[in-house]
Amino acid sequence: MSGIETIGVIGAGQMGNGIAHVAALAGFNVVLTDISPTKLDEALGLIKNNMTRQLNKGTITQAQLDEAIGRIKTATETSAHGACDLVIEAASENSEVKRAIFADLCQYLKEDAIIASNTSSISITRLGASTDRPEKFVGLHFMNPVPVMKLVEIIRGLATSEETYKKAIAVVTKMGKITTNAEDFPAFIVNRILVPMINEAIYTLYEGVGSVENIDNGMKLGANHPMGPLELADFIGLDTVLSIMQVLNEGLADTKYRPCPLLVKYVEAGWLGRKTKRGFYDYRGETPVPTR
Ligand code: NAD
Repeated sequence: MSGIETIGVIGAGQMGNGIAHVAALAGFNVVLTDISPTKLDEALGLIKNNMTRQLNKGTITQAQLDEAIGRIKTATETSAHGACDLVIEAASENSEVKRAIFADLCQYLKEDAIIASNTSSISITRLGASTDRPEKFVGLHFMNPVPVMKLVEIIRGLATSEETYKKAIAVVTKMGKITTNAEDFPAFIVNRILVPMINEAIYTLYEGVGSVENIDNGMKLGANHPMGPLELADFIGLDTVLSIMQVLNEGLADTKYRPCPLLVKYVEAGWLGRKTKRGFYDYRGETPVPTR
């Protein structure tokens, strides 16, 4: 038994709403917070839509849906996490934003509460050191979309205790996920391999080797990938892809991790992919149209 009944989720974006979804369906009470009330409303709407899809497929019952929705509370104040046994941070991929969240959060937490970060790339040791409990700090890297993807990478920081690690495995397993262990090095396992491949696809576009469609079709039909790399970049969020490349570039100091200038330009334009309706594709119409 993990002793964990109430889970806090900080950040109600793509990942936060998915984590709240699977936690509530697994029987945990959920406290979902975000600085933006609009994001909280959107997240609740999305969770209901996604659970209704599961209901229509017959994978959950109406009673499970109603109970899960009833277990999710939302708030804009961090103090709402005071009764949580575990808080999973899923705010924007920015080290300073995350460290400020942890500094604020710790004052409200129970002494034995565990903190996790869903960071895609940032050092768990460094984030843990910004809390008052590095031994109760762990990386829980869920994949997108959370209700569908089976894997969660578990990352121990230098100070993470064995007890925290075991509780993290128990919670994630109760959510129906399969865990894998990754050491605390930039971007861990999945993104260390995946994101440089996406960055290379963007270089291929930047250098004019192929169009958006040629590159995505090449990898879908030629390498049997379910999504093309540019389509996948839009799905992840181009700001997140850029942050991960910056962490790899700074952390491993190898020029092969240089973020492509075209990726930087898209982020500067605010064209972040699906979440802003424009990235390497324009999603504002019926079907996505390449933007280059
Ligand atoms: P997102 O942009 O969709 O959502 C981020 C949310 O954080 C927003 O709703 C924003 O309002 C909120 N936020 C920002 N600052 C905050 C603060 N100080 N307090 C509370 N909320 C705050 O991003 P996302 O794709 O959900 O990514 C969130 C985290 O999950 C990142 O660390 C990212 O690297 C990681 N992650 C993303 C993916 C992916 O495919 N997108 C996959 C795995 C992990």
